[in-house]
Amino acid sequence: MFNLRKLPFDPKSNAVVSEETCSYHHGKHHQTYVTNLNNLIKGTEFENSGLYEIISKSSGGIFNNAAQVYNHDFYWDCIAKKSDMSDELKARLQKDLPNFKEEFLKSATTLFGSGWAWLVYSPKSDKLEIIQTSNAQTPVTVGLIPLLVVDVWEHAYYVDHRNARAAYLEKFYENINWDFVSAAYEWALKEGVNSVKYYIGELHAKGCGCGKGCGCH
Ligand code: MN
Repeated sequence: MFNLRKLPFDPKSNAVVSEETCSYHHGKHHQTYVTNLNNLIKGTEFENSGLYEIISKSSGGIFNNAAQVYNHDFYWDCIAKKSDMSDELKARLQKDLPNFKEEFLKSATTLFGSGWAWLVYSPKSDKLEIIQTSNAQTPVTVGLIPLLVVDVWEHAYYVDHRNARAAYLEKFYENINWDFVSAAYEWALKEGVNSVKYYIGELHAKGCGCGKGCGCH
């Protein structure tokens, strides 16, 4: 049984999303992915698996709901509180993506339909990259390590901004929790893909037997 993570901020006073958006986006949409996942894995090979393992190995409805649980978990941390970027991340962005803000916003604005825009670290190329994923797709399945994400499904902004995705993105960008993103970058360099497993394990501890509650086997 997976549980819905708690919001890492007070929904009454978040700079990016209103309390009403939180009640739908977290309380209904995110909760539904968790509920669906719990129902779908019953009686399957994934019944006792950790969330990371399910995301890595499943397909169809199980994958869609598992990946959406993780994508939303990560998104809430990215907007928990406005904070500053570490010097290390700032230097790395200047090197790999000197026009980061413009490119990231362009990626999020132009994504067609429902999906996510991400800043990721690629251990293979040792580079920061901006990528889009559609629907429930997540960088985790292709070995990329998420550092920052913005949800551009309409449910993320329609309550507060109606159809104005750009207005939502502007607010999002002004209030990024760079503390969290900087820490994700630091852990990505140190631990590679294990940093993703630890993150998921912290939020969705499940008896995987590794002693870290991370469902990493
Ligand atoms: Mn969403």
